[in-house]
Amino acid sequence: MPLQFASRLDNVETSAIRELFKLLGKPGIISFAGGFPDSAMFDIDGLKQAADEALTHESGGALQYGATEGYEPLRTQLADFMQAKGVAGVESNHLIVTTGSQQALDLLGKTMISPGDKVIVEGPTFLATIQCFRLYGAELISAPIDADGVQVNQLEQLIVQHKPKFVYLIPTFGNPSGALLSLERRRQILELAVKYQTLVVEDDPYGDLYFGAPPPPSILALTKEMPAAREWIAHCGSMSKVLSPGLRVGWLIAQPELLAKATMCKQFSDAHTSTFAQATAARYLKSGRMPETLKIVRKAYGARAHAMGEALKKHLGGAIEFTQPQGGLFFWARLTGAGGGIQDAAEFAKRAIEQGVAFVPGTPFYAANPDPSTLRLSFATANVEKIEEGVGRLGRAL
Ligand code: PMP
Repeated sequence: MPLQFASRLDNVETSAIRELFKLLGKPGIISFAGGFPDSAMFDIDGLKQAADEALTHESGGALQYGATEGYEPLRTQLADFMQAKGVAGVESNHLIVTTGSQQALDLLGKTMISPGDKVIVEGPTFLATIQCFRLYGAELISAPIDADGVQVNQLEQLIVQHKPKFVYLIPTFGNPSGALLSLERRRQILELAVKYQTLVVEDDPYGDLYFGAPPPPSILALTKEMPAAREWIAHCGSMSKVLSPGLRVGWLIAQPELLAKATMCKQFSDAHTSTFAQATAARYLKSGRMPETLKIVRKAYGARAHAMGEALKKHLGGAIEFTQPQGGLFFWARLTGAGGGIQDAAEFAKRAIEQGVAFVPGTPFYAANPDPSTLRLSFATANVEKIEEGVGRLGRAL
């Protein structure tokens, strides 16, 4: 008799895009498919120094078992970091450190979702969130987005209709959408959270990666205009996109009861996030290098985003439409079919691989009602020359 796996796995498939990733080993391929930041941007000198200091000055803490809530020096640094980003009154005990923000999402799933519960997500949204919430038996409801992020009128209707356990949003430079939720809509979402007593999860790994003017304050930061909303907002942060995903340092800010339950679940999951990684991250934040690192990554990714936008216009013209992202790592685009061009992004992806360039078709990013003409292009890991060359290949594939 074959192994009998837990029925919760029945709802979840391995990621459709993993199949595509197998093809990326082809020599000479230019990949716009991954969601990785560029490892060339990691501040190796700063991290070496931080790790060395952690081992030299606090080996008792950095190499020992630690508190599930997180290593106190890091919690303090993260509270300061969030205060500097406009979140009023955050103290170290208002957050827990998680093993990447991915774990914060998993803990939210574990603490909040019973099988059959409804959760509203954006259409499209982060693939791993779709899979994680489904693993806990959530029925996902997809709220439409446009260039200004989630459409709040529609979101309100869906909240009224489905009474979700919570709403999950990536308001700032979404993955895969690249969209930026407007200030007005952020305020409206706070109103909805209070009006319907609905938890809103703000996933914000990309908020620091802006190329021009800073984005509006996070939804969490805006609660200072509406203190009654604070208890309805949970916020996930991450060190992954700017500092290093390999550190696996993220954090969760939420009201005390939710935080306590998430901590209990974390205890049974990994006991605590690597103390060495936490001590290193804390020393790094304390070193004062972060502002310079942010300047460097914003400039580099901004140049790449600009190059990709120009190249798409030049090589694909009216066959593709997109909004130029103002931050983050992704272009979200739609094949228009203009001039008799291809409109199916999965078919286009196959032809693109033949031409030596890869991207991810959009369908897997939808929890429901996928738009098969959409696709995600990452500009993070290829330099400007490679971007020009890769988009040229896309033009030939089309
Ligand atoms: N949320 C979103 C929207 C993401 O794109 C990612 C990384 N791809 C994560 C969460 C998880 O990041 P990490 O666990 O590395 O913090």
